[in-house]
Amino acid sequence: AINEVVDFLSELAKKKNIEIVNKINGNLPSVYGNRGWFKQMMINLVDNAIKYTTENGKVTIIAYTIDSELIIKIKDTGIGIEKEHIERLFERFYRVDKARSRRVGGTGLGLAIVKHIVIAFKGSIKVKSKINEGTEFKVAIPIEEK
Ligand code: ATP
Ligand code: MG
Repeated sequence: AINEVVDFLSELAKKKNIEIVNKINGNLPSVYGNRGWFKQMMINLVDNAIKYTTENGKVTIIAYTIDSELIIKIKDTGIGIEKEHIERLFERFYRVDKARSRRVGGTGLGLAIVKHIVIAFKGSIKVKSKINEGTEFKVAIPIEEK
């Protein structure tokens, strides 16, 4: 499912000459819950990474398992997010810079949806970011025991 998302968004990235680096371990366990939700979560995170990264940047998608968790990291070389905004990012309609956000378009719902999906998967999400250097979203989701 992750690879479908990457294919879907690579067209978007091409327009801004953003390189998408796909570092996904081939043998990831496949299903952790609702597949559509999982895809929606990935699309929202990768869409942001592309949207908030300037031309010629790079977006890296990393996925691997550790212990009984699936770890997904989405890193970009974009504009970054100031510390003061990070804790509010997942609120509905919250957008960091209204003028700038209006230019790139969107509703401010993307990350609120991501948060709900992560909770539905009993996982967690963390953000690391540096202004003008980039942002990393790290999602950890427990793996379903077979
Ligand atoms: P939507 O996703 O509904 O189209 P949106 O992208 O503005 O709109 P969110 O995805 O919820 O809304 O993101 C909230 C805000 O967080 C964004 O407006 C942006 O300011 C900031 N943001 C999100 N991801 C990144 C990122 N990778 N780099 C920098 N800023 C980000
Ligand atoms: Mg968004």
